[in-house]
Amino acid sequence: MKIDQRMQPIRLILSDVDGVLTNGDLSFDNQGIESKTFHVRDGMGIKLWQRSGHQFGIITARSSHIVKIRMVELGVEIVRQGSESKLPVGLQVIEELGLTLNQVCYIGDDLSDLSLLSRVGLAATVADGAAELKSVAHITTTAKGGSGAVRELIELILKSQNRWQELLQTHYGI
Ligand SMILES: [Mg+2]
Repeated sequence: MKIDQRMQPIRLILSDVDGVLTNGDLSFDNQGIESKTFHVRDGMGIKLWQRSGHQFGIITARSSHIVKIRMVELGVEIVRQGSESKLPVGLQVIEELGLTLNQVCYIGDDLSDLSLLSRVGLAATVADGAAELKSVAHITTTAKGGSGAVRELIELILKSQNRWQELLQTHYGI
């Protein structure tokens, strides 16, 4: 199947967090407080994606308050933290939203993402993703995790769906 055909039906993007929305660094201060760095352009992309009427969600094995804060900021309501096995969690989200696998894109960077990645209609990974993921992914972004990879993916899909230009016009007057 051509990549454009895979992108057309996508209504939901599910994303891993560490190594995709961040560069994968886990930083802790002396009190054990964790910090992560998110890319502002990923945020813009996620907002635009949601404004287009599509849905965005995250599934992560770890649990942190920072992720919760960032997702609230972006208006992302599908937040599944502490999800060690991503496949059952992902399938549950998809079922709850009444979607089918061909309407879902998943982006991940490491082995724990493989099970879900190999089931969805559009599988994506980042430039610095694990080799095993690259071999099953339909798209490997040119950007690394935490460097605008999700924005790149969103832009590709919205352009393929012929929505990009209209969204820029509506929301940015371009
Ligand atoms: Mg990861």
